[in-house]
Amino acid sequence: MTHRIDSATLRELTRVSADEMQRIALYPGSFDPLTNGHVNIIERGLSLCDELVVAIVHNPNKAPMFSVEERMQILREVFPDEQRVRLTTFSGLLVNYAREIQANAILRGLRAVADFEYESQMANMNRRLAPEVETVFLMAEPGSFFVSSRLVKEVALLGGDISGSVPPQALARLTAKVKQLQGKGA
Ligand code: ADP
Repeated sequence: MTHRIDSATLRELTRVSADEMQRIALYPGSFDPLTNGHVNIIERGLSLCDELVVAIVHNPNKAPMFSVEERMQILREVFPDEQRVRLTTFSGLLVNYAREIQANAILRGLRAVADFEYESQMANMNRRLAPEVETVFLMAEPGSFFVSSRLVKEVALLGGDISGSVPPQALARLTAKVKQLQGKGA
């Protein structure tokens, strides 16, 4: 016996499933520490999806200034009430993690030309590995175009003012970390 669905029912079923479909974007990075550039990408990325998963990459080969827990704490303090931002950590292959959390898109920020080469290689490799996950780039806002976690750490260690480049929660932790490292003779 065949079941026939009239076109009005079909439209209704499709509408409901489209309404229920959550668009999940994955924003991966080291966030060592979170800068105003990252914050801007997260805020703008939220307009493109229902849920934004900000994932701290745990890379055992890198020596970060902040532990994963410290980086997570800064993110929590900066986005305490944003229900649509989920904070996680992961290690291993990005596309595997994107599939695991059923992300539709990987979100990345693009600054100067220097980002382009690396980001385009990674986006193309990820497309080959997982064609169903699109990489979406947001151009850095003019005010954050030259801001990077690496530069912020360097300037902070040399005693420069980085208050315009990081959120206050990150500034407080950076200041404490610099004191702690210099106390140890770093
Ligand atoms: P990674 O270690 O993967 O470079 P980062 O935490 O430095 O991780 O950056 C994560 C993402 O945020 C990358 O896509 C990077 O290009 C982007 N990003 C970093 N700083 C800025 C900024 N100032 N403006 C816009 N995007 C940025």
